[in-house]
Amino acid sequence: MTALETWLRVAVALPFGLAVGSFVTVLVHRVPAGESVVRPRSRCPSCGSPIRALDNVPVVSWALLRGRCRACGARISVAYPLLELATGALFVGAALRHPDPWRAVLLAPFLAVLLALSVIDARTKKLPNRIVYPSVLVAAGYVVLAWALGAPVDPVRAAIGSAAYGGGLLVVALISPRGMGMGDVKLAGLIGLVLGALGLRYVAVAAGLGILFGGVGALVALLAGASRKHALPFGPFMAAGAAAAVFLAPQVADLYLRLLSP
Ligand SMILES: [Zn+2]
Repeated sequence: MTALETWLRVAVALPFGLAVGSFVTVLVHRVPAGESVVRPRSRCPSCGSPIRALDNVPVVSWALLRGRCRACGARISVAYPLLELATGALFVGAALRHPDPWRAVLLAPFLAVLLALSVIDARTKKLPNRIVYPSVLVAAGYVVLAWALGAPVDPVRAAIGSAAYGGGLLVVALISPRGMGMGDVKLAGLIGLVLGALGLRYVAVAAGLGILFGGVGALVALLAGASRKHALPFGPFMAAGAAAAVFLAPQVADLYLRLLSP
């Protein structure tokens, strides 16, 4: 990638990422509450006055208004601009890490969905079907279409990856329903689908790291005095494993192989 191409990619990915990040904040706040994600337009949670388009520019408006509602002055959580910035960074990362545009366009919104699901799971211990199902459908349709048009994605490996990761966790969920829920199984199916389209080693790295992160997280929670009954939500760890695979899978796979063959 030349310097010019790098800057062009950042110039395209960043505004898209910030705009999608704005939608991530809508998902995070409205889906667990069972509200529509398209209507009504954003309102101040304190006074209910609609937020004007000019005051709804990702990150910039929050900074200009110093984190307060223009109408009533109530504080607006820093979570909004942080989620927007994080989504922008994920989009830029996907665009720079995956030179093939078909793959980058698949991975950037996938990472945004993982971010939204992680926040929702951490807050409510749920992975809403309203986000997971449409994501699976759109990703599957996209992979088949992109493959038919000659893009370097593989629908067969996508199906294998989805069945392997989702099926693996389904077995765990059936054996230990308290530790693993059906939401986790469906999320694994989505991760296996998207990463399997790139190659099965991406799925292997995502699953391996997700289980590793989840195990470390559970251990830390146990040492910090959390009781076993309050199971940790597993979604954020699976999402972190998948994100790490998007950015580092070839390196991690090489490391595995080197450790296995001294
Ligand atoms: Zn207000």
